[in-house]
Amino acid sequence: MAAMAMKKLAKKAEKKAPWRRSKNSPAKAPANQKKTGRNAGLELDPKRIEELLKRLQAAYPNAECALHHRNAWELLVATILSAQCTDARVNMVTPSLFRKFPTPAAFAGASLPAIEEEIRSTGFYHNKAKSISGAAKRVVSEFGGKVPEAMPELLTLPGVARKTANVVLGVAFKKAEGIVVDTHVLRLSHRLGLTRAEDPKKVEEDLMRIIPRNHWIAFSHEMIHHGRQICIARKPKCAECPLETLCNAPDKTWSSH
Ligand code: SF4
Repeated sequence: MAAMAMKKLAKKAEKKAPWRRSKNSPAKAPANQKKTGRNAGLELDPKRIEELLKRLQAAYPNAECALHHRNAWELLVATILSAQCTDARVNMVTPSLFRKFPTPAAFAGASLPAIEEEIRSTGFYHNKAKSISGAAKRVVSEFGGKVPEAMPELLTLPGVARKTANVVLGVAFKKAEGIVVDTHVLRLSHRLGLTRAEDPKKVEEDLMRIIPRNHWIAFSHEMIHHGRQICIARKPKCAECPLETLCNAPDKTWSSH
């Protein structure tokens, strides 16, 4: 019974996210990959990874963070606002938000309803306002009004987990402390056979093990751009994809091999 229930659950998960790889995926596992253990079904040949990075870089030579910002604080706020919201929507909201509250101190002194009023259209605005207000208060009281430049300190700010911290560190401070794992990076990492983990922290650890550190910042942006433009969640545009010959995703829409 338990086995049947597990099978049903697995089928349901596969239907919801067909890009997820089971232990037995991909359909055509490269001959040189490990077939057992934690790497079973993954495609981690360093030469292949090197080629993936090369092609991503060639396809998106100027990949940058799409969130408009003028400093680390504004980027932190914009990243908090971008949860479950498009970057375009965030970019529509932030000019007026930062005009009204130009510094962390201004946010710290603002009431929650005043912040909520400005960010309502980004969704989940109660929680986002709480996070921004809490982060502003802590930046002012503990860090002299400046966004800290280290991962452990950033993680003490309300509403800031590794994804936001990695965006701020990589984009604002050019520090490669980790790899941004958002919904696009998660989906593409599965399709490209780079991880089987579901938890973003574990996905990030897997990626950090196989991607050379000097590529971490660019890799995040390139994967996000690729996920938005070509490797979209439903019906990826495989016929147009520069990574196609390297990809054995279970839900490819076209294949040359
Ligand atoms: S071939 Fe298709 S599934 Fe694979 S990375 Fe490209 S768009 Fe995504």
